[in-house]
Amino acid sequence: MSTAVALRGIRKTYGKTTALDGLDLEVREGEFFCLLGPSGAGKTTTLKTVAGLELPDSGTVELGGKDMRGVEPYDRGVAMCFESYALYPHKSAYDNLASPLRSPRHRLPAAQARERIGEIAELLGISALLDRPVGRLSNGQRQRVALGRVLVRPARAFLLDEPLSHLDAKLRQQMRAELKAIGAVQHTTTLYVTHDSVEALALGDRIGVIRDGRIVQTGTREEIWYRPCDTEVARAFGRPRINLLPGVVTQDGGFRSADGKVELSVGAQAAPGTDVLIGLRPRDITLRGPGHELTGTVYVTEVLGRSVEVTVRLGEQQVSLVAPRPDTTGLRPDDPVRLSVRPENLLLFEADRPERPGRRIEKSA
Ligand code: ADP
Ligand code: MG
Repeated sequence: MSTAVALRGIRKTYGKTTALDGLDLEVREGEFFCLLGPSGAGKTTTLKTVAGLELPDSGTVELGGKDMRGVEPYDRGVAMCFESYALYPHKSAYDNLASPLRSPRHRLPAAQARERIGEIAELLGISALLDRPVGRLSNGQRQRVALGRVLVRPARAFLLDEPLSHLDAKLRQQMRAELKAIGAVQHTTTLYVTHDSVEALALGDRIGVIRDGRIVQTGTREEIWYRPCDTEVARAFGRPRINLLPGVVTQDGGFRSADGKVELSVGAQAAPGTDVLIGLRPRDITLRGPGHELTGTVYVTEVLGRSVEVTVRLGEQQVSLVAPRPDTTGLRPDDPVRLSVRPENLLLFEADRPERPGRRIEKSA
């Protein structure tokens, strides 16, 4: 598959702030790529660098295999949707959607433009708002108009900066489901920025995790979920969060918790005595399943709808698990419980250090 967008060794500083610190990123032709990271990680700067709105201090930007040095934003052929949407407040939503189609490069005959705008407006649920001035719309409505403005015209790539962040939870969920079904999105390389891991998992053909101006891991949702590169990536995905219990690697490559109460054979590819964290995802722990067994006592239970989050004391540690409601009927605080975890679901990491999160340790099969 050919590469649509390639960033190599991008550095970008603003005064003393390093926004991008040697960022490498490749987005394949036609894919929906999610760039996930916390606020301040460098996501917006990455998009602006692709669009040519910011010039890197060093490094190269390639679009369709061509070096973009010296190429003006307008000539790059990408369409970007900003977090702070640049709309014309006095013009109607319709005119805001239509203006990209009036530019010399993308001019469409009026009838075709109307059809295309109608289609996009329908998909974004703003058909009834088209006559209203954008300045009188709610934030969520404005955000959808801004997204529509990007999707309405053909582009080599869409660059979307947290385009659903101002929508209420219900609408966000609905739009998330619909976004990938939009024809233009299906056929166009999309680089989608978000700080929401649920969104990244739902939308991304692949996900790039950005931290402090660098990509720390790129992969499919399965790769990121089952083989997170370090504890911070493991913590970023999944709610409730992954349980991380401190301990050491034993002589035979097993795990023993710091309090000596939990022992698991894991086949750690690390020297005995290494300080480690074992990672157990709450939905991978069952109350009556096959696998390794752990015994503990119930600390607290919390109903999450059809499932129940159970916090269990294991020695001096607590772990949370999510179980179907029937499995938890009758559980009371201080009740003894047996937990099971399949060996393949155990993740092992080096202990976290002040300067960096613990990296994943391989296990023997
Ligand atoms: P994100 O979009 O992931 O929240 P940004 O790319 O906006 O992150 O910002 C990355 C870093 O660069 C942050 O520390 C931010 O404060 C800084 N930064 C971004 N734009 C500017 C600017 N125009 N002037 C100064 N600092 C900036
Ligand atoms: Mg941003």
